Amino acid sequence: MGRRKLAAGNWKMNGVKAALGEITALEAAHPAPDCDVLICPPATLVAAMADAAKVISVGGQDCHAAASGAHTGDIAAELLADAGASAVIVGHSERRADHGETDADVNAKAQAAWRAGLIAIICVGETEAQRDAGQALAVVGGQMAGSIPQGATGANTVIAYEPVWAIGTGKVPTLADIAQMHDHMRAVLGASHGAEADAVRFLYGGSVKPGNAAEIFAVSNVDGALVGGASLKAADFGGIVAAASEG
Ligand code: PEP
Repeated sequence: MGRRKLAAGNWKMNGVKAALGEITALEAAHPAPDCDVLICPPATLVAAMADAAKVISVGGQDCHAAASGAHTGDIAAELLADAGASAVIVGHSERRADHGETDADVNAKAQAAWRAGLIAIICVGETEAQRDAGQALAVVGGQMAGSIPQGATGANTVIAYEPVWAIGTGKVPTLADIAQMHDHMRAVLGASHGAEADAVRFLYGGSVKPGNAAEIFAVSNVDGALVGGASLKAADFGGIVAAASEG
């Protein structure tokens, strides 16, 4: 199955208007990448980035399950779509940890993303204690069962495997461990969603840098990356985009 690679950046709570210059620089350096490129800036920059970007797609970092209403400080998938977003991250481990989001919450947010016409980037991943206890495969399988709604397709869903202990730490699982997890995820999704599972892209996330991107993209069932820190600067993210274009 020919799944086009996706280089996705998560700016988290970083990025003022001046940071839009990174988008201009990235597009100047990679005007026609042979992969999909997505940046998820803070909500304050979604509209301006969508206006400025020519090649890069823009996404949100979270959405509420409801389409509108009395939810101060939250953002609906419909509002992200109206601002020019084409995707939204749901269930990032920082949301799960900081806001107590459960698999059921993530499942509802993924359905909200689809309702608004957005691609849901659904995040899963084990903690270091869970990996040390030999529970990584079971934990991720359980998160997938709870977080991925029926109806997931290659067109509306991307799954990001992000081991919590690898995010922002400089630690990366071995390539063999990434392969084992991504192969497992493909089998789990196949069991729950049938043949359509072959079309869904699986990203690896956690301390991806220009220096390790190519070897990670060569791993079985890795269809791209979700990148935090190294997505903030065009020079760094450009190296990852280049690796995804070659892989
Ligand atoms: C992330 O937060 O999704 C992430 C992968 O961060 P980093 O690349 O900085 O580890």
